[in-house]
Amino acid sequence: NLTTENAEAPVAERTLVLVKPDGVRRGLSGEILRRIEAKGYTLRAVRLLRPTSEVLHQHYAEHEGKPFFEPLVEFMMSGPVLAVVAEGEGVVPGFRSLAGATNPTEAAPGTIRGDLGRDWGTKVVQNLVHGSDSPESASREISLWFPEL
Ligand code: UDP
Repeated sequence: NLTTENAEAPVAERTLVLVKPDGVRRGLSGEILRRIEAKGYTLRAVRLLRPTSEVLHQHYAEHEGKPFFEPLVEFMMSGPVLAVVAEGEGVVPGFRSLAGATNPTEAAPGTIRGDLGRDWGTKVVQNLVHGSDSPESASREISLWFPEL
């Protein structure tokens, strides 16, 4: 009975992934999308865009006032960003786990940052991807990057 199944289906968990300008510039967008799909998550929306300062100030609001905040916003405006909504049970922590530690030098091999990232000696840590840190952040960030969803 399809009606009953739909009524009982949980709302699919979603996360916001960004392939940051370093990832797009290095031609790693496809490899990063491949890893998300290979893990079994579904790509729900994908958009290549140049984010505005306003979107980035809202996206990174929790970091406002920190020494890396303005350099981070500037870095995020240095080239196109690939914004992705990925879907699947456990996708919020699951993608954080695929991404690896914030510092690519410390990120474990097997992770996106561990396999594909390194320290380039830049002021801002260039670590290829962003992933929402909680379902609440995911919902806020998806509305910001994909207002039509
Ligand atoms: N960042 C940085 N220096 C720091 C901390 C963070 O340049 O000391 C940058 C880095 O690009 C990181 C982003 O700011 O990915 C957001 O920081 P957060 O602590 O939220 O890390 P994430 O959740 O991305 O691993």
